[in-house]
Amino acid sequence: MHILRLQEDSPVLVGLYDPNEVLRYANKAFRKAYGIGPDEVISWNDILRRNYAEKVGSKIETEDFEAWLAAVRSRRGKQAYRGFEVDLCDGRWFWMTQTQDEQGWLLVVSSDISALRAGERGLRVERDSAVLAALTDTLTGISNRAHIFQLLEDQVKLVNLGRRPGVLALLDLDNFKKVNDTYGHRSGDEVLKHFASVVCSTLRRIDGFGRLGGEEFILLLPETDSSQADAIVQRILKLLEQGRPLPEHPEFSYTCSAGLVLLSQGMNTEMAYQRADQSLYEAKQGGRNRVVWAK
Ligand code: GH3
Ligand code: MG
Ligand code: MG
Repeated sequence: MHILRLQEDSPVLVGLYDPNEVLRYANKAFRKAYGIGPDEVISWNDILRRNYAEKVGSKIETEDFEAWLAAVRSRRGKQAYRGFEVDLCDGRWFWMTQTQDEQGWLLVVSSDISALRAGERGLRVERDSAVLAALTDTLTGISNRAHIFQLLEDQVKLVNLGRRPGVLALLDLDNFKKVNDTYGHRSGDEVLKHFASVVCSTLRRIDGFGRLGGEEFILLLPETDSSQADAIVQRILKLLEQGRPLPEHPEFSYTCSAGLVLLSQGMNTEMAYQRADQSLYEAKQGGRNRVVWAK
């Protein structure tokens, strides 16, 4: 008695079919979901037919309903227990279980799992953004240190496998400490963001660009020869000189220095990075705001 009363008011859908597939019992939630009247006696076939015609209950997507029904019937009631997901026309998702006894009575119990699926979906979205965050520099939105080094390693491998040479450029803002000291750390951050957006505006889809930390960056130009790369980086230096990243200090502009190396066969990542770093050092020594190529 208690079971029946609680079942009647439960949001879980409960239904019982006899061996001839006539619905002998259905609680309120079940009848509501499938549009069945309180005292209506109806067969499983007719419930589904009504589903299909009136677009209530289970969502049935088919051009040929009778063929669909036959296919479903061929799977129905072949096991003592079966569980599967169904979606309803009203947008809810259910986990449906069918339990059958030896005489062929079939108990159907379906629980709403829409919230669960929404949670899963939320989890997938969160995982995707976590993966993205693991590769991204939070201040500028470009690749972080780990990611740009990974791209560099990939590029070096490809070149060693015979891909056309590319260019590694190490970029470091000039006298950046002074920017912080003069205008404050927050303005320094604005300059870093400005730098990233200027460089990004000059890149192709295949190029890599990442922040190593502080005011040091890597620019990776695959399938690019020295003269092309030189032109690209010179253009960046020009754009920076012309840029005015601090609106409240319209007189302020900044520069950067670059050390470049051609990535060619026989070179490894460590070697390439060291040679670019040495060139960057020479660019600083030479007066900054310039490009120096590794010999
Ligand atoms: P150089 O021309 O020789 O490169 O001189 P520099 O002043 O740019 O170089 P240095 O390495 O001495 O100074 C880098 C400064 O960058 C020091 C540090 O305070 C600042 N810095 C590092 N990370 C950040 C950051 O995320 N935001 C800001 N605003 N400043 C940063
Ligand atoms: Mg610097
Ligand atoms: Mg530095």
